[in-house]
This record gives sequence, structure tokens and C-alpha cells, in this order.
Amino acid sequence: MGMDTVRYPEGHVLLRHLARELPVISHGHGVYLFDKQGRSYLDGSAGALVASVGHGNREVAARIHEQLVKVAYVNGTHFTSEVTEELAARLCAQAPPGLDRAAFLGSGSEVTEAAIKFARQLWVERGEPRRSKVIARVPSYHGNTLFALSLSGRPHYKKFFGPLLSEVVTTAAPYPYRSGLQDYAREGADHYARLLEETIAREGPETIAAFIAEPVIGSSAGAAVPPPGYFAQVGEICRRHGILTIADEVMCGCGRTGSFFASTPLGFEPDALVLGKGLSGGYVPLSALLVKGAHLEEMRQGSGGFMHAQTYLQAPSMTAAGVAVLDYFEKHDLVSHAARVGAYLQRRLREALLPLPGVGAVEGVGLLAGVELVEDKATKRPFPRARKVVEGLLGALFAEGLILWPNTGHADGENGDLVMVGPPLVITEGDVDELVEKLARGIMQHMERR
Ligand code: PMP
Repeated sequence: MGMDTVRYPEGHVLLRHLARELPVISHGHGVYLFDKQGRSYLDGSAGALVASVGHGNREVAARIHEQLVKVAYVNGTHFTSEVTEELAARLCAQAPPGLDRAAFLGSGSEVTEAAIKFARQLWVERGEPRRSKVIARVPSYHGNTLFALSLSGRPHYKKFFGPLLSEVVTTAAPYPYRSGLQDYAREGADHYARLLEETIAREGPETIAAFIAEPVIGSSAGAAVPPPGYFAQVGEICRRHGILTIADEVMCGCGRTGSFFASTPLGFEPDALVLGKGLSGGYVPLSALLVKGAHLEEMRQGSGGFMHAQTYLQAPSMTAAGVAVLDYFEKHDLVSHAARVGAYLQRRLREALLPLPGVGAVEGVGLLAGVELVEDKATKRPFPRARKVVEGLLGALFAEGLILWPNTGHADGENGDLVMVGPPLVITEGDVDELVEKLARGIMQHMERR
């Protein structure tokens, strides 16, 4: 990237994820990050869509600190705690209907897996062990541990790791730009519901435990919003076949789309829901699994309860961060703010980017947006992956102080390069202007050189 980086003494022990040098972070404030060289960066993607309450948030840090000095860790099988109970109660109070029990772990992948285990155990308790398959959608992303990766509709993430876990079947996810439909909004729900019905009929409903979906798809489809009525139909189909539904709100949840739960305005009423990322805003690792008490009661009466625990289950240090973030959200009315500034972001991105060469689509809702770059706008032909267009563009923007999240979509050749925009929810309209102008200028310069 042509940037200076701090040199470490020889023999440092950090296992570098990527084979390149990284700038050394110094501190952050709001939507800005500062490195040791004094360069500033506008964090247009909240890292990996995480930093919901912004960087260097002293109110949030103070609340967590208060808990750390009381008690940071107990095992969730020995104790509960006030912060854990409070976080569970406050999340369940606003969750989709029936989700009235919560568990807390450390990452999105972990709660995705826990949700699948919950569904499978429930079917075993009910005397239907054949119901073990999970229907996932393509494109999708549900995490990087082996089962969560098996679920993810992103073949290029999987290429080194087979054989993957079986019993994952797929159906097409709504993808506005590449649906091939004349009128996505009008025909989309029927179209994708029919595909789901076909998948269920092919596999046999009596073999299917659960269906998992991101209400608004994150990085694998560039913030794809489903067509109106889609989740009402999906819910009806799954109920009719006795299939449990799981909403993966790890990326789109916690206010990012302008409502706390993305499922709510989409009419999705899942049997389980998972949150991560913005729930702690990055202050500590934290994720949540919400389920129905009625289902837990079935397990209690059967084997005694849900057979799942990990070392950091409901650790107070983690759940305190969730409470701190919820306090901050409420005090600053952050979800309404995200809806308002999000509408502005969506409008500005479309106005500024859609006319530009190479910009095929701008999708999204609230403060979650995706920009799809293509070589040919008329045919929607993607750039050859080998050209690493999005990596080049975002590398150049990073060097100029704008952080965005690159994605290559779900499969080589099937979609264009994706730029994910998802700033901290505390972003202002002025920061949005800076973000959009920098991105537009970057795209223009980059596309000219192609
Ligand atoms: N589900 C979705 C929708 C995600 O976007 C992600 C992370 N990008 C995950 C699950 C996995 O979360 P984690 O990386 O915290 O394991």
C-alpha cells in the first residue's frame, strides 16, 4: 500500500493473518481511528461491522470497568449475575415474539453453532432424530468454525477445509441485483418461496431440523434486502413443514438497519435468533442466542436442559458490555439516529455512486450498505477475480484514511466485487458526506485506470 509501518524487533511472535505489514493502531474516537504515525482513518465499516457505539467510548468503558472490579468471570453453569440477567431481560423484551430466553457466548460463529445444536437437540427430544439437516441459503455467511462454515454459502471460503460437515442443504437467497426477475419487489417473495418449497420437497421435510437466514444479508451479498412479504411466506412454509427458523442477525442486528432487530420490520418471527458484533460494539467479545422458553421447557422435561456450555458462557465481563451498549443506545436514542442517518447514507450513496463507471448496484437499509462493482454494467459481468479490483480500491482508500470492508461475494464469477459500508451508529451526516465523497472519488480514479 506504499505506507510506512512500524518495524518490530526481529523475532516478534505475532502470527500475521495476511502476509503484509499493518499500521499500528494508537487510539480511536467516535468514527475515527488514529495510528502510531498520527494518521487518521474514518472507520466506514466499524471494523468488521462491529464498533456500533464508536471508538474510545468512555461511558461504555466505564460501565464495563465497574463490573470488572466487582467480578469479571464466573462460569455460567455455576452462577448467573445481575448484568447477565439484565442483558437477557432487556434483549428479550424487544425481541420478536416468543424469544424469551437468552444465552451469551463470545462470537457469531459460536452462537450460530449453538442455535443449530439447539434445533437438533429439540428434534431428538421430540423423538424425531431424523430431522438433522439444516437449510441454509446461497449466498450467505454464518461464521468460520467448521459447522458455521459448512452452513455458509461461500464456496471460496471453504476450499482448504473439506470434508465439511454434511447435512447442510441450500436454497437461493433473495439477491435484488442478480435475481433475474423483471420486478424483484413484486415477484421476489413468490419466486424465492417456491425455491424453498422445492428444496424442502426434494430433501423430505421429515429430515429437516431448521432453516437459517440473515434477514438482511451481510457481506456475501452486499446488504441484500429481501423482497416484501418474503419472510411471511418463509415463516408459513417452515411452520407448515415443522421446520424451525433461525435468524442470523450477527451483522444486521443491534440497530444497524434502523430497528434494533432486523427481523422485526421484515415480519420474520424466528424460533431462534443470534446476535454478535454490535452487541458489545467491540469492547469485549460478546454474542447472544435467543430462543423460546417453550422449547427450552420441552428439553427441561426431557433430558433436563440444553446441552451446551463453553468456558465464557454468560461471563459478567462480557454481558456488562452488552448492558453498557444498551444503556448508551437508549440514552442517545441511537437506533432512531441510525434510521435517520442511515436513510441519508442510502440516498447519498445511490446519488453519488450509481452514475459512476463500474458501479452495478447499491443495496442496503439503514447503516448497512453494499456496493457491487462490475466490469460491464449492461450485462452485469463481474471483474475477473484475479484482478482483485475491490482489494485494490479499498487498499487505496485505506491509504487515504477511509476504512471499508471488502468482499468478493459468494462465488467466483457469480457476482461482482463488493464494498461493504457500515459505519459506527454514532456517525453524523457530515461524516457520511466525507465517506461518500471519498468513496466516489476513489471509484472514479480506480475505474479510470482499468
Ligand atoms: N453471521 C454473520 C451474518 C456474520 O456476518 C458473521 C461475521 N462476519 C458471523 C456470523 C460470524 O461471526 P464471528 O466472526 O464473530 O464468529
